[in-house]
Amino acid sequence: MPNSPSPTGIAAALTDRTDDRPVYVIGGGPGGLAAAAALRTRGVRAVVLEKSGRVGASWRGHYDRLHLHTTRRWSALPGLRMPRGFGRWVGRDDVVRYLEKYTEHHGLEVVTGVEVTRVDRAPDGSGDWQLTATGGRVLRGRAVVVATGFNHTPRIPDWPGRDTFTGELLHAAAYRNPAPYAGKDVLVVGIGNTGAEIAADLAEGGASRVRIAVRTVPHIVRRSTAGWPAQATGILVRRLPVRLVDRAGAVMSRIAVPDLAAQGLPRPDTGLYSRVRQGAIPVQDVGLIDAVRSGAVTPVPTVASFDKDTVVLADGTRLTPDAVIAATGYDRALEPLLGHLDVLDGRGRPVAHGGRSPKGAPGLHFTGFTNPISGMLREMALDAEKIAKRVARASR
Ligand SMILES: Cc1cc2nc3c(=O)[nH]c(=O)nc-3n(C[C@H](O)[C@H](O)[C@H](O)COP(=O)(O)OP(=O)(O)OC[C@H]3O[C@@H](n4cnc5c(N)ncnc54)[C@H](O)[C@@H]3O)c2cc1C
Repeated sequence: MPNSPSPTGIAAALTDRTDDRPVYVIGGGPGGLAAAAALRTRGVRAVVLEKSGRVGASWRGHYDRLHLHTTRRWSALPGLRMPRGFGRWVGRDDVVRYLEKYTEHHGLEVVTGVEVTRVDRAPDGSGDWQLTATGGRVLRGRAVVVATGFNHTPRIPDWPGRDTFTGELLHAAAYRNPAPYAGKDVLVVGIGNTGAEIAADLAEGGASRVRIAVRTVPHIVRRSTAGWPAQATGILVRRLPVRLVDRAGAVMSRIAVPDLAAQGLPRPDTGLYSRVRQGAIPVQDVGLIDAVRSGAVTPVPTVASFDKDTVVLADGTRLTPDAVIAATGYDRALEPLLGHLDVLDGRGRPVAHGGRSPKGAPGLHFTGFTNPISGMLREMALDAEKIAKRVARASR
């Protein structure tokens, strides 16, 4: 890729390019690329620092059958549409293709193989930012956009006895496809979008038994109903009162989603939008409803502990699966990078997003650390414009 110097060219590129204090964007995923493109469009030089060897690293690692849950149109980043040929629900490989094309189309400066390990204010009081990166590099920028990803570090709960488990235990981030699990008994832990889809994938892909451990029953929505995408509803209701949306959501759910209480998945007793505000995005159905209804996937209570070959559930049931796939989320892992700057809240998330910088930290911007009902790619596209506008104004 012309914009990604080879490892040998990295040091030279960084030395040359820091002279005029560019804006540094940390992370070459969709959020970072969108911000860099929006900055460039406004005449602001942005250099993307990406720790892996290529842009779109997260997407390259996702499971094979993944398609966007958001529509092609509302998943595009500023300044470049996704081709119609990608279809309405864009597949993983096409997302990667799009990100590569996006980088090329906007002529983005991306330096790969560089991990930023710490962000500080420049010590001379100039208001610049100083980045420490792998290889002992110290870089100076007039502003910084942190786009290291909501799904940064896979998290597996520290279940008692976890290390004694004799079966296979992996995080969903390491799951690719059902082939290795054909004929096996698999327990998926966690019923977010990832756990729900992996469970359906395993059932369709020949696992002998698939159970899904449920801590909190999820809201399940259809990806689209009579051609109307769930994301469109998410965009429309985003600014409406929570109670109103909760009530409308309950009515919609009764119409569109069958009652799965007999199969172990009762309807949730808290509202859909209330849950979103607490950080739980509804599960978009891409096979779970049919799999649960047909008995191909069985919901079970959440995991309490492990004991050698056995998984003990919260109700005391003991299972002996061949494999456990933990779809138990990710940590933002921003503390080592910025924990000392007083810009994170109690949950380790940035206190300000998009165009707004945290108080006392002008020029420090974050994108991709919220999980909105309207779609994260869409929000990152909007945030990119806001960040670029703010940085361009501050630069004048
Ligand atoms: C399975 C899955 C499906 C999703 N589907 C959708 C969907 O349908 N629609 C939607 O809108 N959103 C979706 N999302 C959410 C979101 O859009 C994606 O996670 C998206 O990739 C986030 O983009 P990002 O740039 O914020 O983070 P990432 O794509 O994770 O990119 C972060 C980049 O930063 C790099 N990096 C991290 N730390 C450093 C560092 N210290 N120094 C240098 N580089 C670093 C990483 O290598 C990575 O390339 C999905 C998420 C997942 C996990």
